Amino acid sequence: MTAPRLRSDLESIPAYKPGKAPAPSETPAHKLSSNENPYPPLPSVAAAIADCIGGINRYPDMSGREITALIAERFAVDPAQVVLGSGSVEIVSQLMRATAGQGDEVMFAWRSFEAYPLLARAGGAVPVAVPLDSDHRHDLDAMLAAITERTRLILVCNPNNPTGTTVSSAKLDAFLAEVPSDIVVVLDEAYLHFNHDPESPVGIDFFRRYPNVVLSHTFSKAYGLAGLRIGYAISPAHIAEALRKVAIPFGVTQLAQIAAVASFQAENELAVRIDELVAERDRLTEALSAMGWSLPESHANFVWFPLGSDTARGVEVFERHGLLVRPFPGEGMRVSIGSVAANDTVLTAAAELASLVLIPTDAAETSAA
Ligand SMILES: *Cc1c(COP(=O)(O)O)cnc(C)c1O
Repeated sequence: MTAPRLRSDLESIPAYKPGKAPAPSETPAHKLSSNENPYPPLPSVAAAIADCIGGINRYPDMSGREITALIAERFAVDPAQVVLGSGSVEIVSQLMRATAGQGDEVMFAWRSFEAYPLLARAGGAVPVAVPLDSDHRHDLDAMLAAITERTRLILVCNPNNPTGTTVSSAKLDAFLAEVPSDIVVVLDEAYLHFNHDPESPVGIDFFRRYPNVVLSHTFSKAYGLAGLRIGYAISPAHIAEALRKVAIPFGVTQLAQIAAVASFQAENELAVRIDELVAERDRLTEALSAMGWSLPESHANFVWFPLGSDTARGVEVFERHGLLVRPFPGEGMRVSIGSVAANDTVLTAAAELASLVLIPTDAAETSAA
């Protein structure tokens, strides 16, 4: 008997690898592998979710009217320009499915968000990964040069996951001026709230100026709703219409919508938490640099250790200290900003690691120069 037939090209697609979760017995452990917000939900958000539970026998509001209106108001756009997704991962998937058919090309920097190549391939498109430059930033010139007749979608992850780096407004402007206007360019701003880089583009300004720019935002990171799955696109209306066609019907639950509304209403409280995470990131960055680490400057809620062939050793040292991080074998490891206690432990582990490995990148070069 032959097995049920599946798409043959799926065999070449690796499964998405989520950040490692602590084993039940291994405590205490700090999960710093998925860039999650370390804070528990705000009481007001938890209460709004609890109030909603009695209604889960009903389908959610498919149009997400209330949260869509709030988002539209916040960014001064038309509600028709807002599309919800089951996390912004679904937004990225919608964008790929709405723009790229079989054999069309979806371009992104690499290394960047690991869902990009997986979603592109799953949709039948050809992923085109353009290496980051030597400063771990998007190489927009190389991306421009890689555009072909088949390019349908370009993703710019700003700040970039996992390196934390930003593109500059000036470079993005120069890039967008050259990209053919029939190619959709996505600014994935999952880490928008942590980005205080004055040189960095603010997506909404670019959205207003370029008719082919779409923004992808999420409630998962700064707002701490990763477990509920809600993100959104801000998009020109005709593209938004296409995104709704390929969206999973009822993909955004009522709990997620309600929690997002409650989060908008509690933004002052959330802003305090975001400021604390940013202050922690800056504290960590300074302390690591004082130890001799020369890491790319992060504008997100994580830091990137470009350890290269020492990555496995780095992960092992961190795990010994109870820190779960995200390894990219042979390239480096990404460490999320966590609680103060977790970040203190990161510094302890990083000091130990520094004594074991030749500290990578520019530090060695600068001191030798
Ligand atoms: C975490 C992340 C997302 C958001 O994922 P959700 O599906 O919204 O939880 C999107 N893009 C990037 C680059 C990310 O790192």
